[in-house]
Amino acid sequence: MQIEGIAHHPDYLSPAAQRALLAEIVDILAVAPFFKPRMPRTNQPWSIEMTNAGPLGWVSDRTGYRYQPTHPETGATWPHLPDSLCAMWDALTGYPAPPECCLINYYPTAKAKMGLHQDRDEQADDAPVLSLSLGDSAVFRMGGPTRRGPTTSLKLHSGDAFVFGGPARLYYHGIDRILFGSSRLLGPEGTHEAFAEGGRINLTLRRVTRPG
Ligand code: FE
Repeated sequence: MQIEGIAHHPDYLSPAAQRALLAEIVDILAVAPFFKPRMPRTNQPWSIEMTNAGPLGWVSDRTGYRYQPTHPETGATWPHLPDSLCAMWDALTGYPAPPECCLINYYPTAKAKMGLHQDRDEQADDAPVLSLSLGDSAVFRMGGPTRRGPTTSLKLHSGDAFVFGGPARLYYHGIDRILFGSSRLLGPEGTHEAFAEGGRINLTLRRVTRPG
C-alpha cells in the first residue's frame, strides 16, 4: 500500500511473540474484562467487545466516545500497559513520548466488523496510531481524508503491525469482515480458554494527550 504516512509490517510479530502477547492480554483481561460498547445516541451494541490497558482507556456508550482512566463496568483503573508494547511503539512510531492507551478490540464472530471511521479523539494527533493484529485475518478497508472518497482493501494477518501517521493520521478506515478460522492462535487449538471460540484481536496503541 503506497500511501504517505501508512506503514504495513507483515509478520512483525513471530509466532512466539504472538503467543507471548496473547498471554499478556489474558493477564489484562483478568483485571479488566471485556465490555460491550454501545453506540452514541442509538445505544445499539457494537459487534465487538473491548477493554484497555494504560493510563487512559477508550470507551463508547450512549453519551459518546471518550477516554477515561477507569473501566466502565468495574470502576477500576486500567491495567498497566505492557513494556513489550511500549517497546514496539518506540520502534515503529519513533514518537518521543509513550503511548497512553492500548485499546483491545475482540472480534468474536464472523459477522463482527467496524464501520469506516476516523481515530480523532486524541489531542496528540501528531502521534501515529499503531495497530497489531492477532488471530483470524481481517479484511481491512483503507480510505482517505473524506468518508466518501475511494478506498482500498487489504488483509491484516496475525502478527501484522500497521501504522497510521503523518498525512494519513486521520484517514478513514474500517474492518469489513473477519476470515473466521484462518488462524490457529485463538480457537480450540489455541492455548487460552478465553479465546476458545476463535476470532480476531486488534490492539491499537495511541498517545492521547500532548506530551509536556
Ligand atoms: Fe480506528
